[in-house]
Amino acid sequence: MSGSLLSTVTQIMDRGQNTNSYKFALLRSLAAFGIQHGNGEEVISREWLAERFIEFYWPITVRFQIRQATVLDKDPVVMKFIRNETNELGLPPEMPLRRYRDQHSDRYGELVARTAGNAFDDVIPRFHTVARRKIKPRLYKIDGEDIIIGKKQRMFLRENHKTLDLLAVGAWVKFTESFTSAPRLYEKIQGLEPTRSTLTRYRNFLLSWGEPSCFYCSEPVRNNSDVDHVVPWSFIAEDKIWNLVLACDQCNGDKLSATPADMFINKLNERNHQLLEVGDDNILDAKIRKELAEWRGRDLAEHIWMLVNRCRADGFGTWGP
Ligand SMILES: [Zn+2]
Repeated sequence: MSGSLLSTVTQIMDRGQNTNSYKFALLRSLAAFGIQHGNGEEVISREWLAERFIEFYWPITVRFQIRQATVLDKDPVVMKFIRNETNELGLPPEMPLRRYRDQHSDRYGELVARTAGNAFDDVIPRFHTVARRKIKPRLYKIDGEDIIIGKKQRMFLRENHKTLDLLAVGAWVKFTESFTSAPRLYEKIQGLEPTRSTLTRYRNFLLSWGEPSCFYCSEPVRNNSDVDHVVPWSFIAEDKIWNLVLACDQCNGDKLSATPADMFINKLNERNHQLLEVGDDNILDAKIRKELAEWRGRDLAEHIWMLVNRCRADGFGTWGP
């Protein structure tokens, strides 16, 4: 039984034709249901499902801005609902779901209800359809609006929850790669907070190197000034010296998660060129030294332009004069 349920899942993940990512989100939800208490047959409520979907879609909608449909502007409805929330409340891109939930619990309740009422009419009945055929065995039964998990299915979900989640994320990444070339999709979709390592080392290095001024407006900056990711962190999801500059509060606040105008990309490439010329002995920080060493003799400027262009193609705006 377990083996054939696994082959059902594999077929759905591997051979399903998807126009958006709901099937992956549904499998991740079922995997999450596997670690709930209890052994018997149980109904999964749409509200519970909606909470899982909001969890999965929040970071890719708000923070990473990765579209989730093969056709532009056909993002799943849960993303539209989430976007409405962030627009109406003016939430910043780095707003974690839990903070929104705490600060706006009434609205969160409405978001869950709206998602429960609108997101699942297609995906629940279609989940088991592969190449236009309903396949068996099924992971759940449907009774009216409800998903019912039988006893055996429940045991299967419990025993395999981790495997199923990995399968779902892998298939989700593969699907998403068909229309974006954003880096680090696995981490972004899995929802791990990419470690935002402390930027202090970079701030100290940049302050000690040349005049401490804002990269964008050239105003002097203070010792605790902002360190800005030129290619936005929400796209690149990593901290590397060649993408980091000092910025004043004003510029950093205005730029948000946009790419700066071409003149600043050129300026960054010029800055990096100078950094790469500096001998290793002059860079005391081993991590920074290593990040630069990776690019000796390679075309870092071309790499940065590629990232900038991909970032803009994914809809991140352009900021600056
Ligand atoms: Zn500035």
